[in-house]
Amino acid sequence: MSAVNLLDFDLEGLAAFCEKLGEKRFRATQLFRWIHQKGATDFEQMSDLAKSLRGKLQGLATLTPLKVISEHVSSDGTIKWLFDVGGGNAVESVYIPEDDRATLCVSSQAGCAVGCRFCSTGHQGFSRNLTTGEIIAQLWFAEHSLRKRLGTSERIISNVVMMGMGEPLQNYNALIPALKIMLDDHGYGLSRRRVTVSTSGVVPMMERLKVDCPVALAVSLHAPNDALRDELVPLNRKYPIAELLAACKDYLEAAPRDFITFEYCMLDGVNDTDEHARQLIALVKGKVPCKFNLIPFNPFPQSGLHRSKSDRVQAFARLLADAGIVTTVRKTRGDDIDAACGQLAGEVQDRTNASQRMTRQPVAVQIVRRDTDGRSTTG
Ligand code: SAH
Ligand code: SF4
Repeated sequence: MSAVNLLDFDLEGLAAFCEKLGEKRFRATQLFRWIHQKGATDFEQMSDLAKSLRGKLQGLATLTPLKVISEHVSSDGTIKWLFDVGGGNAVESVYIPEDDRATLCVSSQAGCAVGCRFCSTGHQGFSRNLTTGEIIAQLWFAEHSLRKRLGTSERIISNVVMMGMGEPLQNYNALIPALKIMLDDHGYGLSRRRVTVSTSGVVPMMERLKVDCPVALAVSLHAPNDALRDELVPLNRKYPIAELLAACKDYLEAAPRDFITFEYCMLDGVNDTDEHARQLIALVKGKVPCKFNLIPFNPFPQSGLHRSKSDRVQAFARLLADAGIVTTVRKTRGDDIDAACGQLAGEVQDRTNASQRMTRQPVAVQIVRRDTDGRSTTG
């Protein structure tokens, strides 16, 4: 039997594992706290666990973190880590400190199968799902390495957003235990309101999330009508806007917040006119309690798209706000280290030629461009 990675287990899973070893449930709680609250890397550190249990664990279990390939620290305090997940794949996490909170942006997949036009991860195509252990290892590493660095035993990360690489609701089975570990009082103890799943709109899985683990929900809308959304977010062809909005409304029955956050990436001349704003208002006003978060597009060469001018973003925001819809414009953080939304590219290996298929505009198709140290400069 190959050793299991204990980072793969939520508390229930760990209790079941301990039971198989003939251990009581409270042992699982102790072990879980050592791993997630204290950041233990070694069973011998776990001084209040019976020596016999530590011995059993040595042979049967591991605590396998992710290998860090690189760390970039931005002048604004944002930190981006690139983690090796094997097979030539890498994923990224971004730490964003603010005055009143500290957020970790976590990846759920290597690559992404949804293939949104404006997203660098989407242009890579899909490599594979991350395991629960690989999702939680991003938080485990960030939390405990930051505590060491800042010389504190206090909790650092207060919020998690599943807005890194990948579509979390297309990796549902690994996502749920990872969310449970984040929320567990014996784990990271994060409030449901401070853990956000962001989705491009996998309707059936939104329905399941509502039942299995309701957390805050952000939905990547990006367009006010199906014709345009079909182009920008191909998943719309399967789950069109009307179904998506119905699922949003339904989700709110169990959600920890009483609104859905709609993300809207502002693309110059594509989805940013006054008419688009008016269509959006007609779509949601009085129908779905929501807030809008306008994200200035972070360009990358293969997209063939451009960022909306800042006065256009402001005018668009004003139209929504004047219609009574709470609207914010996302600050870009970590610009100097390519840590902004949609720039997370990991090791860009466009095995599936997704980028080529997606680029229909007459721009020079450049699948991977590497600078001298081998990092992709396109993402
Ligand atoms: N797959 C999920 C979560 C990851 S993407 C989703 O799509 O919601 C996180 C957010 O970044 C999404 O709102 C996405 O639309 C946005 N995004 C992707 N590429 C971007 C880019 N190039 N510029 C700005 N935002 C981008
Ligand atoms: Fe995937 Fe989200 Fe990027 Fe779309 S925006 S390709 S769903 S990661």
